Amino acid sequence: MKYASQHFAILGAGRSGLGAARLARLHGAKVTVFDEDEKAKPVEDFKYVLGQAARDLVVKPGDFDLVIISPGLDEHWPLPTRFTAAGVPLVGETEFGFNLTDMPMVAITGTNGKSTCTELVAALFNGCGMKSIPCGNHGTSLSEVVASGERYDVLAVEISSFQLETIRKFRAKASLWLNFAPDHLDRYPGMAEYFAAKSRIFENCTESDVAIVRAGESVSSGKAKRWTFSAYGAEADCRYANGRFYHASQEIGSAANLSIRGKHNMENVLAALMAGKVYGLEFGAMLRALAGYQVPRHRCELIRTLEDREYINDSKATNLHALEACLRSQERPIVLIAGGKDKQLDYTPLRAELKGQVRAMVFIGEIAPQLEKTFGDLLPCRRGKGMAEAVSLAKQLSQPGDAIILSPGTSSFDMFNGYGQRGDAFREAVLSLS
Ligand code: ADP
Repeated sequence: MKYASQHFAILGAGRSGLGAARLARLHGAKVTVFDEDEKAKPVEDFKYVLGQAARDLVVKPGDFDLVIISPGLDEHWPLPTRFTAAGVPLVGETEFGFNLTDMPMVAITGTNGKSTCTELVAALFNGCGMKSIPCGNHGTSLSEVVASGERYDVLAVEISSFQLETIRKFRAKASLWLNFAPDHLDRYPGMAEYFAAKSRIFENCTESDVAIVRAGESVSSGKAKRWTFSAYGAEADCRYANGRFYHASQEIGSAANLSIRGKHNMENVLAALMAGKVYGLEFGAMLRALAGYQVPRHRCELIRTLEDREYINDSKATNLHALEACLRSQERPIVLIAGGKDKQLDYTPLRAELKGQVRAMVFIGEIAPQLEKTFGDLLPCRRGKGMAEAVSLAKQLSQPGDAIILSPGTSSFDMFNGYGQRGDAFREAVLSLS
């Protein structure tokens, strides 16, 4: 019992926190779960301190041996600070889980594509006979997986900048850097801080580890060997061009048998293939394993074709980089539905991307007036009060052969409880068109 007679504080009563609580208890620690949210509810028989009681908490030196923080919380917020001010060492839930397992890992970060690539990596290993699971920031938390006692040959661990903020020793044999673009400026003081947090994925890599990095990214990959990939024509170790994949200039297979589409997704495939290569898998077998893979919902998802118009739900595009990737992956003229919460993102660079490809735009959410100013002189622009009105306006502005796409470029919290609810509203509006 590694932690017998120790008392751990777990911050956050969500899934990640509970995973960490279970794992800590498994290793002998006494556990108390804290959450300032009034709506948080005890789920298991841990000691809980919730709502006002958590806000009134006074921590004295010696009360706790360790504080484990869930990724949804910032270590500088008042609750964690009360522990660290009393001298309690703080770790993130991911780091905690990492320290209690020897299972090999592939770690995946990036501004966009993390979830898709994490699923691809797990599908690829499973399809090649190595047991894997997508986890970390995607689905089951790392601590939950470790606490489950299940053995995996390789874990596919999605890791966000928030989780990387609180690592100390975390490292993986293969670490994937998919891309970097402005985002989360509502949580970070600036781009430099967001970049610094993400770059920590390579911090503890050794010479025997591999950093798999999109060609042209300026990030340093520390001591790791560096392998690059590109689907956009850049020089790289692994490339995608005209429907085919290449490794060191040798063709390794075709994309024709894959269900997944779009150049941005081909970069996710390349990164996943290289992760498999680190573990000795063959390209042909890996591509066969990925054949039936479908992207998760709300990511350039075709909802319906009606009157020769394709309706595509890309609600997960919560930043401009994802919106641009979506535009580039389309061959049809587009009527674009965009907008949502004002995250201080600058849409102006998008003007160059729209020319010739986007026929008209419909704006939603609190940022709509600003978007009208940015694009009004370039294209026909309208404003939709809700999703149903936006879809109906987009239909009016479209012509046969077009794609009508919801790809907001920002988050949804001004109108919805998340991108899932926003995508569902789009789907419902589209399915009720006659
Ligand atoms: P994440 O978990 O990083 O948010 P997702 O796989 O959920 O990534 O995709 C988020 C958004 O980014 C979707 O709109 C998707 O179409 C787009 N996207 C996916 N992969 C990439 C990529 N490699 N480059 C750019 N955009 C991408």
